[in-house]
Amino acid sequence: MGILKNSSIEKGLSNEKVIVIDFGGQYNQLVARRVRECNVYCEIYSYKTDIALIKQMAPKGIILTGGPNSCYEQNAPTYKKELFELGIPVLGLCYGAQLMMHILGGKVEKAPVKEYGKTEVDVNHESLMFKNISQKTTCWMSHNDYISQIAPGFQISAHTSDCPVAAAECADKKLYAIQFHPEVLHTVEGTKMIDNFVRGVCGCAGTWRMDSFVEESVKQIREKVGDGKVLLALSGGVDSSVAAGLLSRAIGKQLTCVFVDHGLLRKNEGDEVEAVFGPSGDFDLNFIRVNAQERYYAKLAGVTEPETKRKIIGEEFIRVFEEEAKKIGAVDFLAQGTIYPDVVESGLGGESAVIKSHHNVGGLPDYVDFKEIIEPLRDLFKDEVRKAGLELGIPERLVYRQPFPGPGLGIRIIGEVTAEKVRIVQDADAIYREEIAKAGLDKSIGQYFAALTNMRSVGVMGDERTYDYAIALRAVNTVDFMTAESAEVPFEMLQTVMSRIINEVRGVNRVFYDLTSKPPGTIEFE
Ligand code: GLN
Repeated sequence: MGILKNSSIEKGLSNEKVIVIDFGGQYNQLVARRVRECNVYCEIYSYKTDIALIKQMAPKGIILTGGPNSCYEQNAPTYKKELFELGIPVLGLCYGAQLMMHILGGKVEKAPVKEYGKTEVDVNHESLMFKNISQKTTCWMSHNDYISQIAPGFQISAHTSDCPVAAAECADKKLYAIQFHPEVLHTVEGTKMIDNFVRGVCGCAGTWRMDSFVEESVKQIREKVGDGKVLLALSGGVDSSVAAGLLSRAIGKQLTCVFVDHGLLRKNEGDEVEAVFGPSGDFDLNFIRVNAQERYYAKLAGVTEPETKRKIIGEEFIRVFEEEAKKIGAVDFLAQGTIYPDVVESGLGGESAVIKSHHNVGGLPDYVDFKEIIEPLRDLFKDEVRKAGLELGIPERLVYRQPFPGPGLGIRIIGEVTAEKVRIVQDADAIYREEIAKAGLDKSIGQYFAALTNMRSVGVMGDERTYDYAIALRAVNTVDFMTAESAEVPFEMLQTVMSRIINEVRGVNRVFYDLTSKPPGTIEFE
């Protein structure tokens, strides 16, 4: 319910919406993303969502996701049969396919042969689902159960060598069941199949675009905010920057952004944020920069334990923000850069486990005097947030900024944080990023940065003995941020970086490249 109520696009664009019903599968967010890639707006709902609400939304299509359960077991997640009688096209994927068959009179059992991984599937071209798909195409399978008997009125429309019903359909009623996962990229023609469903079967026009999102959101923010005041904590990260851009477009000076420079940002980053959002920038808003460097360094003096550092940095942020908020006085709205994955990962109240609780979902900060939260990016995926950012005229370097931890360089400095160490790691990191960009690797490497080890060792420079710090360079590739591999970067580039750092950054006499994967390491170096 909450999601629908808060949806910033509930009106206007939602007249063409496909909904995903979540049965706890691991690829559910991907399903919604693929639909949006077809320019059709899509939202995810728990299987516990009342059918009355679904009718009221009148979606153009419904997709049932995969899930870990077996639909023939007692207490397995299920849905009312009525869902298939609304006249709305339904596509069931994996568990969703099995459930559709189970509810409509087919049979699902433990499969004699489980399928997992890339599998060749043979499709029937007469099916609308498989229009323009190769006769034999690679799909992604992941199931222990199978459909041993299709429901009355259905026809088999695809099979594999181990799975007699890889897809089935009742075209008259627009009901489609697919055992594999078209949403996973390993299903080579999966996006085309999703497109076949949303356009071919559901008849969506596919007009969902970022410019219409921006336009529509601006309208709705104006309506909601009226002549109220909005306060936003701007971190310089992608989400809060795009939220600032959008709110500024909608309500101009009714928006105040507080940017806390904790002195742990990357080189020149504080000034870059100010250049974009400050008085000489292109956005109409009140911009307050708090230079809290000294405060942070004082709090961090003598602290070496990484968790303690994180806590201090987080708490200090609240204190600084609170002080600024007090100066401004009561506001009507506190804006937050919450995005769709934050909402989904915090749990939709259904089967999908709470992956992590997000500080900006649910819990309301009590240190600012405000009436209501406003979250203008709540319906967007990360890449959509970036598109909206470009649409709003936020510079590319900010929109495509690398993920950067909230506590900033504070945790990329091993041991005690001092102003001197911050300078060293900022300078080294700037050189590293510059050379990576020069080598044309900045778009292909997942994440890269320099960290300052707390190790000092003997060297010789200009015939003189030195006793200086070692910089660690890190570059990793990761698909899911759960695991990562150290990136294979050209040795020559590393050598250039090494010699530039040693020549240009005072206080460094050694440079290491970190080979550690995750696990056992982490992506960060703290
Ligand atoms: N749990 C069901 C099975 O094992 C469905 C799996 C899935 O949806 N990926 O077949």
